[in-house]
Amino acid sequence: MPRIQPLAPEVVNQIAAGEVIERPASVAKELLENSLDALATRIEVDVAAGGTELIRIADDGEGVPEEDLPLALTQHATSKLRTPADLFTVATMGFRGEALASIASVSRFKFRSRPEGQELAAEIAAEGGSITPVTPRGGPLGTTVEVRDLFFNVPARRKFLKTNATEFGHLAEQFTRVALANPRLHATLRHNGKVVYDLPPAVDLRDRLATFFGSKIAERLIPVSSESDIARLWGFAGHPGDSKGSRKGNYLFLNGRWITDRSLQHALSEAYRGLVMIGRHPISFLFLETAPDAADVNVHPTKCEVRFRDSSSLYRQLLGTLRTEFLKRDFEQRFHLPGDPAKAKEQPASLPEKQAELADGFADWARAALMKAESEPVPEVESPPLPDLPVASTESPPHNAEAPQSLRVTEPNQKPKPQDVTITRAMQVLDTYLVLETDAGLQVIDQHALHERVMYETLRRRVLGEGVEIQRLLVPESVELDAKRHAAVLEHADTLGELGFEVEDFGGTTVLLNGFPVLLKRADPTAVLSDAADALADSPKTPDRRDLLDSLLHMMSCKAAVKAGQRLSPEEIDALLTARHLVDDAHHCPHGRPTALTLSRDDLDRQFGRMG
Ligand code: ADP
Ligand code: MG
Repeated sequence: MPRIQPLAPEVVNQIAAGEVIERPASVAKELLENSLDALATRIEVDVAAGGTELIRIADDGEGVPEEDLPLALTQHATSKLRTPADLFTVATMGFRGEALASIASVSRFKFRSRPEGQELAAEIAAEGGSITPVTPRGGPLGTTVEVRDLFFNVPARRKFLKTNATEFGHLAEQFTRVALANPRLHATLRHNGKVVYDLPPAVDLRDRLATFFGSKIAERLIPVSSESDIARLWGFAGHPGDSKGSRKGNYLFLNGRWITDRSLQHALSEAYRGLVMIGRHPISFLFLETAPDAADVNVHPTKCEVRFRDSSSLYRQLLGTLRTEFLKRDFEQRFHLPGDPAKAKEQPASLPEKQAELADGFADWARAALMKAESEPVPEVESPPLPDLPVASTESPPHNAEAPQSLRVTEPNQKPKPQDVTITRAMQVLDTYLVLETDAGLQVIDQHALHERVMYETLRRRVLGEGVEIQRLLVPESVELDAKRHAAVLEHADTLGELGFEVEDFGGTTVLLNGFPVLLKRADPTAVLSDAADALADSPKTPDRRDLLDSLLHMMSCKAAVKAGQRLSPEEIDALLTARHLVDDAHHCPHGRPTALTLSRDDLDRQFGRMG
């Protein structure tokens, strides 16, 4: 007998099952997708013991003719592809023809189906892959698939399953994705005989979202839509105040298929940058519709990852669509006063919720800024003179600094444009907050948070635009690092260069700083560089360039901004408040903390009992 033997079909199927069928939820996903491909309008899912004992899915779809039943259980047999070219224009959820064969090889499996025009239903069964002959049965039009005792013959797999509750959670998530992508589908999910979801066909996706995520969240969703040459994008973006501690609330669908995509995920975070706090994630339900050949879905057996032909256009479309929508909104942060009747009715918020609430918004000025941007013929918003706030109390620039090269002379007293909110009388309290009257009422600004935001936007604009102004040092400063940081700094010297740090190797684990960003004049540039080294050394092996720049920008702006507890002169206060109108989203610092709180006229009147 030759040493090399072809694998037996059962073994091939079990190997395939290893890729696609990881747990009960994967079975549910494959079966649900088959029902959708069969154009079902109604799907009923019954699960016992988290899906480990039973998953039964019944649909009213087109069914499989009796004579095709054995083929349905055969590896690489499908009704959905014919030619290799079809692979690039896949319009169905399935196409690999391996799910049923895989599932049947690791469970006790029954597939009963009755297509239109066939008098009786027919059933085919399999146990651990050994198939029994087709038998006629009674049954309605459509298909019912029953999967019992998943992995009964693969103990190693079974051992890796989590508790029934956890497994059911995963399964319910698959059900949710299908229900969201197909609002007109009538779908039910029962666990151990109890109804978990019974979803009537919905005309408005929002109804379905309310069922799954609660009406409070659904009401605050922000509809978004846009159309480009490549894709129609539509759906709902969550209110910043409804952010979550994980990315689980992000739903992205491509042509009805739930997908994950690193680049689009990044675009989403970028759209919410400054609106939700670091470590929190927005919720979103976004749908992309493209021509089938705009993306390759055959990247991974589970088809959750895709390869877009033009990923960067989609990135821009998603970011642009959300940003534009957000700028139209007034997410203004309000004080939550004790005894505020509107507030009192709500549930007491947990701490993370409270923190999330703080990240509640944008403001009037954002609208003003947008209107300004639209009405004016794009005069690139001039960066404020602010970063050079003449803060008397802090250090003078390093002793050996040359005059900055090509220093632009900007009038320090740029008058606010008429559209800007008029500021009258600002006062610094506790050396930390600025209190002022605005059109809306009374506003309290966190001086550090606001300055940090202004620095961040200014630096970012310069880095992405005309470049950062560099202050050259007559005598380079040496910065001692350890081996890891030294290597990281040299490896990322180009990125640091973009940010305005001119570094070179000095030998050993020391680097020389030849120049630094003028904007950082008030901070100690060597200290900022060594912090940057920390960040670089801790970043992943091949960090995304955008992420890296962004985190360095955050760090630099924090260092360079005035601190809490620092007394400001009236001119400095003016400069800071003026600069506020020159940046996008001055209402949150780059970490997403609010920079300002507003106590409105109404709030005040209510507190003083002036309301009728
Ligand atoms: P694929 O979905 O990739 O084609 P599957 O193994 O999931 O592969 O299914 C094999 C075939 O069985 C499908 O191509 C389809 O013709 C048929 N089939 C499976 N489930 C159903 C169903 N619920 N209704 C009708 N036909 C089905
Ligand atoms: Mg399938």
